[in-house]
Amino acid sequence: MSMALSARAWTVTISSSAGRPVLTCSACPQSFVAVGADGVVQVRRHLAGHLVESRLPAYLRTCQCREKACVWHGRQGPCSGPLRLLLIRADRGLTWHLADACAACAAAIPCAATVPEPPQDAAVRHVRAPSGEAVADLTCEPVEWVEAL
Ligand SMILES: [Zn+2]
Ligand SMILES: [Zn+2]
Ligand SMILES: [Zn+2]
Repeated sequence: MSMALSARAWTVTISSSAGRPVLTCSACPQSFVAVGADGVVQVRRHLAGHLVESRLPAYLRTCQCREKACVWHGRQGPCSGPLRLLLIRADRGLTWHLADACAACAAAIPCAATVPEPPQDAAVRHVRAPSGEAVADLTCEPVEWVEAL
């Protein structure tokens, strides 16, 4: 997960396999089946887990929208304003991004919500799939903060 050390931007897409939601994450080596909750809840928890784990200091954060050539919005303009932590819903809810973005980009991105930073003492609990294979879920504590995403 070296990507998580250099920038705060993660993307999870939801597809389905045999009627079960399958999540594919930009920072994880393999897809996994969402268990125990609906797909969108799993996506939020998963993104929150990466965020809590990243610990990227504030002075190293940059506008991740600009890093991706502003593909998340149509109108192009210079970055400006303070960075925000954005949760972005795309593809009618099948793709979710959690990323740092400047105020100007944030205002231009459709379906983007500013979300709070995780509490300093947040911890990540790794939950293993019943098969014991891949990491099935990254559940962040406290739950209240995850639900705020
Ligand atoms: Zn992931
Ligand atoms: Zn942008
Ligand atoms: Zn920007």
